[in-house]
Amino acid sequence: MLHEFTRTPRVAYFSMEIALAPNIPTYAGGLGVLAGDTLRSAADIGLHMVGVTLVSRAGYFDQKIDAYGRQIELPQMWDPEKSAQPIVCAKVSVNIENRVVWVGAWLYRIEGLGGGIVPVILLDTDLPENTPEDREITHFLYGKDAAYRFKQEMILGIGGIRMLQALDFSITKHHMNEGHSALLAVELLHRYTYQQRDLRPGEALYDLPAVRKKCIFTTHTPVEAGQDKFDYSIVDRIAQNEFIDLQHLRKLAGEDCLNMTRLALNLSEYVNGVAKCHAEVSQKMFQTYVVHAITNGVHPHTWTNAGFAALYDKYVQGWRHEPEQLVRIDQASEEELWDTHYNSKIKLLDIVHQSTGKQLDLDLPTIGFARRMTSYKRPDLIFSDMERLKNIAKKYPFQLILAGKAHPSDTRGKEIIESIHAHIHELSEDIKVVYLSGYDMSMSLELVSGVDVWLNTPLRPLEASGTSGMKAAFNGVPSLSVLDGWWIEGCIEGVTGWAVGNGDVGNDQGDINDLYNKLENSVLPLYNKRKEWVNLMKGVISKNASIFNTHRMIRRYATEAYML
Ligand SMILES: *Cc1c(COP(=O)(O)O)cnc(C)c1O
Repeated sequence: MLHEFTRTPRVAYFSMEIALAPNIPTYAGGLGVLAGDTLRSAADIGLHMVGVTLVSRAGYFDQKIDAYGRQIELPQMWDPEKSAQPIVCAKVSVNIENRVVWVGAWLYRIEGLGGGIVPVILLDTDLPENTPEDREITHFLYGKDAAYRFKQEMILGIGGIRMLQALDFSITKHHMNEGHSALLAVELLHRYTYQQRDLRPGEALYDLPAVRKKCIFTTHTPVEAGQDKFDYSIVDRIAQNEFIDLQHLRKLAGEDCLNMTRLALNLSEYVNGVAKCHAEVSQKMFQTYVVHAITNGVHPHTWTNAGFAALYDKYVQGWRHEPEQLVRIDQASEEELWDTHYNSKIKLLDIVHQSTGKQLDLDLPTIGFARRMTSYKRPDLIFSDMERLKNIAKKYPFQLILAGKAHPSDTRGKEIIESIHAHIHELSEDIKVVYLSGYDMSMSLELVSGVDVWLNTPLRPLEASGTSGMKAAFNGVPSLSVLDGWWIEGCIEGVTGWAVGNGDVGNDQGDINDLYNKLENSVLPLYNKRKEWVNLMKGVISKNASIFNTHRMIRRYATEAYML
């Protein structure tokens, strides 16, 4: 079954989450969508890769919101049997808390548009030979406590390497998408030892350069606090029989605690951040390492809705394979571009009507905001001054659509969802605002294509890249966004959208004023000038979508990191 994949050497791409398809909930947000888009582009281009992740049978969670704006979290079980094939020829084990935990696998095929296939290995501990507790290790994405997540990371990193070997894959490089999979490098240490030499006391037993040569690390967190860390007490209790000695591990992963970022940095030859600004911030944080920059992208075919895909097919043949060609969208007429967008908007407002009972106005400028509900994203920034907001709406009526999940243990994130619902209530006479529950990939495509303006207001410099604005670009929707992450590279004022703030380090009050000024003086007054608005649509397609895609991104990884 796997022979077609194991004959050719491949790059192994490890990620705790991978968004494989809209009906498979093995992702929580941007990191997983990026992983899926990366592998979809690899399949399109015919790059030999293999994905490795957990099967996450209970998904992240399904979100409901009650009448008071309180988030309700439900498991989102999916059945791997319906979308993947069981791999029956191999089973590996990882020693956890002194028990043998068996790991099986499923094969999911990502089929590229040119016929290329990228296999994805979904690791699964839900096997009858495991204890009931161990069977759940691969169920809940980012679930439960630190001990549970450490076990998950052991399965991903250690179990993943063992599974690839058991299946006879030939791996040229291991790409860690964030630090969750860094234990793979520890597992590799066991395989690269100086066996033939007499060791003097204190001499390295492990061939670190050989392991580094095999590893690539992409970091996604611009702050120390966001890094994935574990107390050595947990590490020692859970993994005592699996690891290199703790003393050696401390040298590689930090003295105080096992810092997965540090571990990955120390064992990777190539390290990168996900936008130019993010790489600079990371370089300051990790001064003794070289941090390169490869800016993220999105997968063209996945993130272009049917209407725009048809328009591009008419004017920019081959855009799915060569999205650079979208610079030629200027050939489409004003009417065609506008009508295509208008149809997307009709569809979105239908969805809003069906799910909330509220009827939004097709002819009002509609602003969209959807992302993880967490404090640095400042989802409630636009509600900071309610009087000002109402006054702007009196002059230039507009409406607002929001969506997003808060991580179950992010109390502040859940409070933000509640406070947004209170604001919606308070504005009910003045501005129509709706909140859609259950933000996921399919809702994301409807939102980024159906609104007129895509809003993003993170606190600088905490947005490593952000990708939803790139999805909007593929659907001709300009961004109104704080200058952070990819937008520093993508924003041309008045041509691809608008900047909020001047790029200085986070300042709530400055950003709030600027946001209202831009809305009142630049964004909303332009909406009824059809010709100028369509020029903006052309600007964002030709100058953003042509660049901020995973085809460009994966080609850079291939030439700058994988071929090292
Ligand atoms: C694209 C996407 C994200 C990431 O968007 P950001 O702009 O990085 O916040 C998160 N969740 C879902 C469901 C997405 O489709």
